[in-house]
Amino acid sequence: MDLKRICRGIIIFCVCFMLSVHSGKSQVKKEILQGAISKIEITPDIPVMLYGYGSRKTPSEGIHDPLYARAVVFENSGGKLVLVSTDIGSYGNEAYATIQKSILNQFSLKASELFLSAIHTHSSPILSLNRESGHPNNIIYTETLNQKLLTVIGDAFNHLEPIHTGCGIGYSPVGSNRREMRPDGSITLGRNPYGPADKEVLVMKVATADGNPIGAIFDYATHATSLGPRNMLISGDVIGLAEQFVEQILGEEVVSPAFAGASGDIDPWYRILPEFNTEPGWIPEPVLLGTLLGEEVVTVFRNIEMIHPGGAIKTSFETLECPRRTRNNENSGTSEDEETTVPVNITAARIGDDAAFIGFNIEMLTEIGMAIKAGSPYKHTFIITHCNGSSGYLVPAELYKEGGYEVTSTRFEIGSAEMVVRKALRMLYDLK
Ligand SMILES: [Zn+2]
Repeated sequence: MDLKRICRGIIIFCVCFMLSVHSGKSQVKKEILQGAISKIEITPDIPVMLYGYGSRKTPSEGIHDPLYARAVVFENSGGKLVLVSTDIGSYGNEAYATIQKSILNQFSLKASELFLSAIHTHSSPILSLNRESGHPNNIIYTETLNQKLLTVIGDAFNHLEPIHTGCGIGYSPVGSNRREMRPDGSITLGRNPYGPADKEVLVMKVATADGNPIGAIFDYATHATSLGPRNMLISGDVIGLAEQFVEQILGEEVVSPAFAGASGDIDPWYRILPEFNTEPGWIPEPVLLGTLLGEEVVTVFRNIEMIHPGGAIKTSFETLECPRRTRNNENSGTSEDEETTVPVNITAARIGDDAAFIGFNIEMLTEIGMAIKAGSPYKHTFIITHCNGSSGYLVPAELYKEGGYEVTSTRFEIGSAEMVVRKALRMLYDLK
């Protein structure tokens, strides 16, 4: 063997050794959970039709408080998870389909890796991309929102760094069961303080590896409707104001994305009082309730001491077809009549050993979310409603007889809620 061959052999050996060391290092680096949270303002700068109440026939008349979209990105060993909290009412199916597709394409995500969710404020723009039925201003708004979502998620991806996470639980009286019984036994939308309500304020603290907090993610079950149907101002209402309160108290570095828990039958304790005159520009109900909820988030956040590095990310997405209710009068003659099922999109994700997120494209009543939390194999299960589309109210079987607004409105046949609970728990267990 001549000298040249020996040298070449040595060089090849060295290069292979260096490559193996390098790939080993990047392997280790990838095992570390990385994360980032970004925020972008999405307050409309033109009057828009407001979401949530059919009685409002004219566009919005001003701004009470600003709206934001907040994006959480986690990444580990190629696994990704993007949680988007948006200060809007809902992603209707049509807008969702377009926006979801654009996000998945832009960031090479699987459907299971995206939770595109709304806090369900009823003082925000209706999303629409339909030029025949949508208000022109709302179409402009929705197109702009789509671009802003790509920007805010991209910004989070560009700022990924090793992070630690930890969870804590508090409780808040801000939401109350709203299924009030009249003397004649019928159910009306009011306040039922003795009815079931998930009072948990679930908080995930996200901090950099050297301990600097960057996120206070929280989950609470209430409608964001304290401003009521007569309000014509833009607002995040109770949940949006809680997010803003938390960010103000915890400082500029901390972003606080909120998610609406199982709140189909939960309303804020107070709704705006008609003719109750206060300082101009300051409406007490959403500010007081948002502050109260935000205070609990801050208290829980400050008490979270155990934060953990690392942790695997696992995700899954399934559409469960539930039986559609047959109706004699409403919706007759629509194409929906031919459908025999209603789709329930369920998105599940696990971070590390003790936290899971489970998203639903429905407004589930609080009892259903509590059942999922109780059966979940994780210490902390974030129920995220108004997530990845919109299929309306989901009601537990025992309430169909009682009636009331949610029962009249639901498109699901009795027994669907129980199917959803079983499916959601199966998905959570499968990620273990
Ligand atoms: Zn609702």
